[in-house]
Amino acid sequence: MLDTLRRIVQEVNSAADLKSALDLMARRVRDAMGTEVCSIYLLDSSGQRYVLMASEGLKREAIGRVSLGIAEGLIGQVGLREEPINLEDAFVHPKFHYLSETGEDPFHAFLGVPVMHHGRVLGVLVVQQRDARRFDQSEEAFLVTISAQLSAVVAHARATGALDDLDTQELLPKIYDGQPGASGAAIGTAVLLFPPADLGSVPDREPENIDAEVSLLESALMRVRTDVRALADRAKGRLGNEEQALFDVYLRMLDKHALAGEIVAKIREGHWAQGALRIVIEAHIRNFELMDDEYLRERAADVRDLGRRVLAELQSRNRRVQEFPEQSILLGEEITPTMLMEVPQDRIKGIAAVQGSRNSHMAIVARAMGIPTVVGAQGMPLKQLDGKEVIVDGFRGRLVANASVELKQQFEAIIAEELTLQAGLEKLRELPAETEDGYRIQVQVNTGLMTDISRSLERGAEGVGLYRTEIPFMMRDRFPSEEEQRQIYREQLQAFAPYPVTMRTLDVGGDKALPYFPIKEENPFLGWRGIRVTLDHPEIFMVQVRAMLKASQGLDNLRIMLPMVTSVFEAEDAQHLIHRAWLEVCEEGIDVPMPPVGVMIEVPAAVYQARALAQRVDFLSVGTNDLTQYLLAVDRNNRQVADLYNSYHPAVLHALMLVVEAAREEEKPVSVCGEMAGEPGSALLLTAMGFQALSMNASNLLKVKAAIRKVKIGFARKLLNEVLAMDNGEVISSYVDLQLEKAGLGELLHHRRSV
Ligand code: PEP
Ligand code: MG
Repeated sequence: MLDTLRRIVQEVNSAADLKSALDLMARRVRDAMGTEVCSIYLLDSSGQRYVLMASEGLKREAIGRVSLGIAEGLIGQVGLREEPINLEDAFVHPKFHYLSETGEDPFHAFLGVPVMHHGRVLGVLVVQQRDARRFDQSEEAFLVTISAQLSAVVAHARATGALDDLDTQELLPKIYDGQPGASGAAIGTAVLLFPPADLGSVPDREPENIDAEVSLLESALMRVRTDVRALADRAKGRLGNEEQALFDVYLRMLDKHALAGEIVAKIREGHWAQGALRIVIEAHIRNFELMDDEYLRERAADVRDLGRRVLAELQSRNRRVQEFPEQSILLGEEITPTMLMEVPQDRIKGIAAVQGSRNSHMAIVARAMGIPTVVGAQGMPLKQLDGKEVIVDGFRGRLVANASVELKQQFEAIIAEELTLQAGLEKLRELPAETEDGYRIQVQVNTGLMTDISRSLERGAEGVGLYRTEIPFMMRDRFPSEEEQRQIYREQLQAFAPYPVTMRTLDVGGDKALPYFPIKEENPFLGWRGIRVTLDHPEIFMVQVRAMLKASQGLDNLRIMLPMVTSVFEAEDAQHLIHRAWLEVCEEGIDVPMPPVGVMIEVPAAVYQARALAQRVDFLSVGTNDLTQYLLAVDRNNRQVADLYNSYHPAVLHALMLVVEAAREEEKPVSVCGEMAGEPGSALLLTAMGFQALSMNASNLLKVKAAIRKVKIGFARKLLNEVLAMDNGEVISSYVDLQLEKAGLGELLHHRRSV
């Protein structure tokens, strides 16, 4: 059975499209189980009807036509109960619903299992048999296993839009739900960003000039042929004749009578070179994988390899320059901060990604840039949306395609309203973040990009609470030199002087990778991150600190902050290195004071060590993004558990109280530089807790200032006391929203603003 299973899965995974995959699965399952009927029903995109998508044994005409409501018939029951239903005689079951179109009259035995993906029902897989009999346990287990495999195929088809044909009303707006990544709304043209040398993610695009695409392909093929010949030469003497012959096979495959000819033909049918390559290579891979002969099956890997090589050539030297319309909405499976940096920034109006969550670094960077963003929008048919007009709703966290005129007008109104709100807040720029009764707090910014400087100054930031130095590191193809770093840091320090600029030492690892310093780990968030990396590489750390110190000459507004500190010895070791760097810089004749050094509190251990840390350093700053992730054991990038990520969780609030208390006892300043600082509701709670400074992305600064200026400190303290007594983060979050609404701050709440 295991072998059969493996074979079925392999075949299904290499089917050309969803339709063939489902047909194939129905056929193979029926044969393997020796039953008379195997059918697959899938939920349409409204989630309200199961459509018969494939069947072996029921009438062909019924496929695609027959459907059942979610509570209708035995199919509906399997879906509702989310477990298999195994019946000797379906006819006698009270929920049996006879479908005359399918011709199922003679079939009595029924076994239906739900097709589930990440806790959601996508459809139902059914086998039926003429004789009344109960399917045995091994048959049930087999069907459940097959169904689990099917779920991945269906989920993928949903994500790529292959299931959109199920929709009866094609022209209705399509809404793809995700999470808000950065608030705001934007309307524009979708531009798909896809990773290089990944055949599967190449979208279909029309060529601007067919002959130019053909010659692009030909020169790419020529280079690959040269490479393969060089490989063959190098392998001479090391490989036997038989293995050597493989290179000839490769070369023959690239011949114009083989793959090359087919790709050119596809280009002439109206595909760009990369798309034509993908279509041809994928078709060959499928054919090879279906072959019985093991040797021939293995050839699929060769074709895939050749395809990748040609694609890499197409994408590298003669890469068609990607065009970005003025109102570009970037779409992608996963969009990294580095990918964002490669796009002209003035053209990015919105972003929507399948992966990621609100606290992914891409989302943080997008917020800093003020670009409406949706993350974790799983159902987006990326390739189909490429080039279409779409709307990013960063308030509610959704992407809208096919919008009706009315819907588009509603979004245009929201965009205009948001601009008015921002304009209204501009007048707060010069005013302090002070409650109605005069309680004052510092509002600072988190920076990383050069563009953050002007955006922050325009909004009246009182310094930088977190400068993420890894961002300029990410934009290069090697470590920046000491002098290059000095210049970058100088610009930050100068722009904000005399306000302080808190520079965090390099914080890589986790989800922040430098292209030239790869870190491969099973569990990166619990691995080599932040201070752990830099203490292992004092040469990188020292260069960075020296550059910071030199950059601060004559300005005296530098503060150095250490990320991911877990134990006091890490702070001590780092302080020791910083002191050494300072002595070196002084010896070079540069006169700078030793800057204040602080640590970030972003792992639970540091919460309980806060007092010991505060004794040794000059300030503390809480990184609530990581602290929430580590306290709640919820990966900040994983959309699967995004609903569990909640900074209002009582554990987070009580941990914050412990940190403020520890800092107070040691009389050391303490601030917050995680995203919590930038939300009006949580900012008020943090103010009431006694944090002296809140550091946030520039886009939120005026909203937070407005919230602080509109209340009395007593209001914030009362709210804090109330929520500290609650035991449920969801309830706390809603309660805070409600109280803010009541206090007349409703318009500042991002998520309220949507259609
Ligand atoms: C944090 O963890 O809260 C933080 C500010 O750092 P980053 O988001 O860069 O990890
Ligand atoms: Mg962090």
